[in-house]
Amino acid sequence: MFDLNLNLNVGGSAEPAAEQMPASPRPDIENVIIIGSGPAGWAAAIYTGRAELRPLLITGNELGGQIALTTEVENYPGFEQIQGPELVANMQKQAERFGTEVLVDYVTEVDVNGPPFTVTTASGRVFRAKALIVATGASPRRLGVPDEERLTGRGVSYCATCDGFFFRGKRVAVIGGGDSALQEGLFLTRFAERVWIIHRRDQLRAGATLQRRATESPKIEFIWNTVVERINGETKVESITLRNVVTGKVTTMPIDGVFVYIGHLPNNQLFMGKLAMDEQGYLITDKLMRTSVPGIFAAGEIQDHRFKQAATSVGQGVAAAMEVEKYLADLEDRAYPGRK
Ligand code: NAP
Repeated sequence: MFDLNLNLNVGGSAEPAAEQMPASPRPDIENVIIIGSGPAGWAAAIYTGRAELRPLLITGNELGGQIALTTEVENYPGFEQIQGPELVANMQKQAERFGTEVLVDYVTEVDVNGPPFTVTTASGRVFRAKALIVATGASPRRLGVPDEERLTGRGVSYCATCDGFFFRGKRVAVIGGGDSALQEGLFLTRFAERVWIIHRRDQLRAGATLQRRATESPKIEFIWNTVVERINGETKVESITLRNVVTGKVTTMPIDGVFVYIGHLPNNQLFMGKLAMDEQGYLITDKLMRTSVPGIFAAGEIQDHRFKQAATSVGQGVAAAMEVEKYLADLEDRAYPGRK
């Protein structure tokens, strides 16, 4: 038995909702536990829910995953434009309608010796499940320069949607040359007086549409072939030290905010030494979304460093769910041979 929390503050931190639903009895051994509440997790929940498997989804600390931290989504099929938090809230509603039980909690340990697999959460709950779908996603990569950590929340940010408002009329730097850097740089022009996009090369990785919009924005200026060497400031960001990688010239640039968009790292800590990973730490899955342990499936950015789109994560979540359904049917057949 556990508290259900169905009024999730998507995109925010996982705080208990004021109104708690009555706890519903859970089986001793769950059919499937989904770990993570991004698009892959919700898609897996919708499909396993519709298959009447009564999935349990454990949200993690960042409700909704990365898409809940972004603004306009313009490339999710079926929606010309939708806000990231709204898209993921819709997915959650749909998953709950099909019987997904949502637990706002954080998984601290997974015992992969199973089935049943044992999942322990930060609040001390222990669940067992015949199958797992890992959808723990990825988190922003840090620059790794001096004082970045100390000044995080004091001018250094990884989320323009969350913090952009605080930079009204200010000067901000966005680090990176991919879609995220340009999209969030464009978003920041709503608030900031000026936005510098600082990229380590002289060619952007971002797609053509975002490139065109960013280069046309009167508030955005690009600084090419340049890396951040350190972030400076006593109690808040005051300047950044930059190095031009072609000329070697080092300069100090006064700045109020630094938004870092240099890619992501997979949230794989739970599975170190337990599930096979590639050299970058992404879980290795096959075409059927199976990890190296039978009964444990993975979907979304924890196992995908190539596509990394909400739409592809959803597809992978759906595939994982369909394979779980088949896997559970096979388990049942093995437990009750001859029963069809
Ligand atoms: P990304 O595509 O991996 O781009 C990361 C950027 O950061 C690259 O320009 C890279 O430079 C730079 N970088 C990496 N490490 C760095 C370092 N240590 N110092 C300085 N710069 C560094 O990551 P992303 O922009 O977050 O996008 C992730 C995925 O989400 C992509 O598939 C993207 O298409 C997708 N996405 C799509 C949209 C959209 O369609 N609207 C929006 C956001 C994200 P190099 O180019 O030199 O490698």
